[in-house]
Amino acid sequence: MIDFSLTAEQQAVQKMAREFARSEIAPAAAAYDRSGEYPREIVQKAFDAGLVYATVPEEYGGGGLGALDQLIIAEELSAGCAGISSCIAINSLAAIPLVLFGSETQKKKYLGSACNERKLMALCVTEPGAGSDVAAMTATARRVNGEYVISGQKCFITNGGVADYYIVFATVDKSRGHKGISAFVVPRETPGVSAGKKEDKMGQRAANTTDVIFEEAVVPAANLIGEEGFGFKIIMQTFNHSRPGVAASAVGVARAAMEYALKYSKEREQFGLPIFMHQAVMFMLADMAKDIAAGRLLAWLAAWKGERGENNAKEAAIAKAFCGDMVMRVTTDAAQILGGYGYIKDYPVEKLMRDAKVFQIYEGTAQIQRLLIGRALFQESLSG
Ligand SMILES: Cc1cc2nc3c(=O)[nH]c(=O)nc-3n(C[C@H](O)[C@H](O)[C@H](O)COP(=O)(O)OP(=O)(O)OC[C@H]3O[C@@H](n4cnc5c(N)ncnc54)[C@H](O)[C@@H]3O)c2cc1C
Repeated sequence: MIDFSLTAEQQAVQKMAREFARSEIAPAAAAYDRSGEYPREIVQKAFDAGLVYATVPEEYGGGGLGALDQLIIAEELSAGCAGISSCIAINSLAAIPLVLFGSETQKKKYLGSACNERKLMALCVTEPGAGSDVAAMTATARRVNGEYVISGQKCFITNGGVADYYIVFATVDKSRGHKGISAFVVPRETPGVSAGKKEDKMGQRAANTTDVIFEEAVVPAANLIGEEGFGFKIIMQTFNHSRPGVAASAVGVARAAMEYALKYSKEREQFGLPIFMHQAVMFMLADMAKDIAAGRLLAWLAAWKGERGENNAKEAAIAKAFCGDMVMRVTTDAAQILGGYGYIKDYPVEKLMRDAKVFQIYEGTAQIQRLLIGRALFQESLSG
């Protein structure tokens, strides 16, 4: 039999993350949404609680937690505020290339520094002309003697303006297409590295999203992660690990919207009844409950398969695609259940609906996930 129960440790992680979201994140969510400021104090408290770098191995100073623990944390924190949650989660996510492909020296130096000295990390893949088409990136890394000279512009980078270490993807040979892409660790203080304009976003506004510019930034050859030309593989493997977490984060937002809509529907009366008793409203809530449960299971399945060392690319794409669409649907219906109040900023559902949209965009759009699922189906049909 498959066992869906959480271990005692996982239940403790869930309880702690839920409590952190209730006491530290949720009360501050509306203010950070309005200001768009980076929630530095809350991130420090998250470090205190062991919620940052939770999945980095303990030997480098991380929490040593497993993939499912990360999903549990992502759901709980995002139920408090997806923007603040992403300020915490992005660090573990950006660390994935080092955890999976870094040398022992790189892990000790950069993961050790990140975890023990509370340094922040960012993952720099997207460029103005290369979003979904990652292989079209034009940032270059020129090898000169024992160093690489990195030039190019990255955009929409979460933690772009606050990170201490950038994990940067650039091509060492454009003519080789995706096989020319390589990955590097670039410390923020490297001359030629700067953060560009901060984006004024629709949702997840607490997250710091900026351009990051590299102008002839020189790093030692020792900062190459994996081998030259391995970058595309590193990106794809990173996404296979991170997408279940992003899906779980969407589940958290959807859950918050459903919980608020349910409470509201029991209190609000129209035609002499709590609106919950009108079947059209009750059915919207029932659909939310079933879709949230399905999304959570898909995310858990993808993480479980990844943790077993199996190829989880299809499951990760399914979870991300399903949960991205699901959270948009659920938050839209929650706004519907609140009627006019769902459209007003004084009520939390308006923010949840804005926070939801980007789940269909970042970490690969809803369309790109379908492309990946379709390709996997095709491959399976050939081998099967
Ligand atoms: C808030 C936020 C945070 C982000 N954080 C990061 C980060 O930390 N690091 C990072 O590197 N990037 C980050 N991104 C970038 C994000 O991953 C990209 O925005 C995303 O991959 C889409 O790229 P694009 O915006 O260039 O859209 P495009 O690729 O131009 O896509 C535009 C539209 O065309 C569709 N489309 C494109 N190609 C196809 C195709 N082959 N088939 C069908 N449809 C297609 C897309 O689905 C989309 O609907 C972030 C983005 C946002 C908004």
